[in-house]
Amino acid sequence: MRPFSYVRAGDAGTAIALVRARPDSAFLAGGTTEVDLVRQDVLRPGLLVDISDLPLDLIEDQPDGGLRIGALARMSDVARAPGVIERFPLISQAIVLGASAQLRNMASVGGNLCQRVRCSYFRDPASPCNKRDPGTGCSALDGVNRGHAILGTSDHCIATHPSDLAVPLTALDAIVHTSGPGGERAIGVDDFFLLPGDTPQREHPLEHGELITAIEVPGAPVARRSVYLKFRDRQSYEFALASVAAAVRIQDGTVAEVRLALGGVGTRPWRARRAEAALLGQPASAASFAEAARQELAAATSHPMNAFKVELAQRAIVRALNTLTDGER
Ligand SMILES: Cc1cc2nc3c(=O)[nH]c(=O)nc-3n(C[C@H](O)[C@H](O)[C@H](O)COP(=O)(O)OP(=O)(O)OC[C@H]3O[C@@H](n4cnc5c(N)ncnc54)[C@H](O)[C@@H]3O)c2cc1C
Ligand code: SF4
Repeated sequence: MRPFSYVRAGDAGTAIALVRARPDSAFLAGGTTEVDLVRQDVLRPGLLVDISDLPLDLIEDQPDGGLRIGALARMSDVARAPGVIERFPLISQAIVLGASAQLRNMASVGGNLCQRVRCSYFRDPASPCNKRDPGTGCSALDGVNRGHAILGTSDHCIATHPSDLAVPLTALDAIVHTSGPGGERAIGVDDFFLLPGDTPQREHPLEHGELITAIEVPGAPVARRSVYLKFRDRQSYEFALASVAAAVRIQDGTVAEVRLALGGVGTRPWRARRAEAALLGQPASAASFAEAARQELAAATSHPMNAFKVELAQRAIVRALNTLTDGER
């Protein structure tokens, strides 16, 4: 590990100014991703600015039934907050199915959204990787890509977005609040996670020194009946091969409202808008669920090693919708 400087910031303004002042600096929250990458020589910061003392850890119920989650709220605290469990079970479930209890006790919500990809070539400084070293090539395209993305890929990067929490936040149209050199911003989750295109090194629109302060989840009564399912090689301490966040309201036997997002298959948390559109007004039946899933995955681009994800993601969607509508079909 290379030497670097470390400082604890007492307030947000100081943290932003410290990071802003040095191009080789970064925020440090729980450190569960950042420290790993520094140890592996993937990231080489000259200065880490510890933000864990900042008062940004509240989890607040909002008058519209929504939530405001401070960026430094610990994952475990969010998962067990009564308002989250009661009104947004898909958020609580997504968090509990991620990482381990120890990691969730350390990891922050803001850090979770900014965590880097798990592509093994990204994490090996000896391998060409456009995300780590732009222009060097993508080792995964012709390499071991079983866990890689089938939606939103480009010729420059096919890494999946690793966050579980980001999947329900995408289904729920969450808003990321930031504070930075240009003042405060509210960024819709659709605009927050960027497709790799030909700039895979750019994963979100944050400027250097721009701090996530909170995540806002708008009120969504439909989310009371919701679920997060995660499919992976082992049942704990493992990232998703495919996951799905789903919420649905059935009226008179037909789908009146639905939210669907996928994890583990996209280069960003994937809002399944085609499937949502295909479901609205259709009977709540296994056949319409399967057809909607088929339409969503029609755009998938796979490699021989990860082609199984096309079927897996479709089955995940169907299982989630079956689970939520059991007794109404
Ligand atoms: C073994 C292991 C297994 C894991 N499994 C899963 C899993 O199954 N599912 C899952 O979703 N995650 C998983 N994770 C990832 C884990 O959830 C993240 O490491 C964690 O959420 C990051 O939070 P942190 O506070 O530790 O971030 P840090 O490591 O401190 O920071 C991560 C990044 O975010 C930036 N950052 C942090 N806070 C802010 C902020 N407020 N504003 C702007 N930038 C910020 C940092 O500069 C850094 O670039 C796993 C991690 C490990 C190590
Ligand atoms: S998939 Fe992306 S992160 Fe992985 S090697 Fe290719 S460019 Fe790098």
